[in-house]
Amino acid sequence: MLLGNLSKPFYSITDLIFPELCPCCQHSRPMRNHIICLSCLSDLPFTGHEKYPKENETAITFWGRIPLKGACSIFYFNPKGKIRNVLHRIKYEGRKDIAIEMGKLMGQYLKKAKEIRKADLILPVPLHPKRKATRGFNQSDFLAKGLSLRTGIPWTADAVIRTRDNPTQTKLSRELRFENTNQLFRVTKASAIKNKHIILLDDVITTGATLESFAEIVLKAEAASVSIVTLACGELM
Ligand SMILES: [Zn+2]
Repeated sequence: MLLGNLSKPFYSITDLIFPELCPCCQHSRPMRNHIICLSCLSDLPFTGHEKYPKENETAITFWGRIPLKGACSIFYFNPKGKIRNVLHRIKYEGRKDIAIEMGKLMGQYLKKAKEIRKADLILPVPLHPKRKATRGFNQSDFLAKGLSLRTGIPWTADAVIRTRDNPTQTKLSRELRFENTNQLFRVTKASAIKNKHIILLDDVITTGATLESFAEIVLKAEAASVSIVTLACGELM
């Protein structure tokens, strides 16, 4: 299992009894209208990417691959950290409400990124329909919903579909990779994309291969420009 075992076996029971517990630490109750307790909030690994949307770890990942208006990951991902706990609750406990609140939190920081904040549309990276059926929802849709609520930028899950589940193999040659990624996504509503500045949204960025192919297909559908926004990025990319 990618995210390992929970350190406390009674977490899910606690969630049922005290659903408002902080998703990072599961100990404190956040203040009203907050998803994360103050203690965790002051301790989270914020990247500060929003201050440098063209020159940060996430932006650099795409240099020479995709022309971006800007890129921003809000947190560093640590396999033993608090953001991992949050993602675990969203993905494996089905906590859509936490995803929406995290999206709102992302929006709070993204508003400072002048290259990105005036985007026209948010597109969450689609899950393959089979995977979506298994999990019941796409976590990125709910991050997008929260981000949209806070920034006022609309979002849609209906413009692009995922046609294959496996991400691009990073070791393939550039030529083969291009052929490969051509089939990963398909635009179903080009009119929603054309001439717009699009935010491509994902939960965590690792190699960037999936987001690269997503960006390629969106630019091919004549988007004016693309930016990449993720909740978290690996610390040592
Ligand atoms: Zn906490």
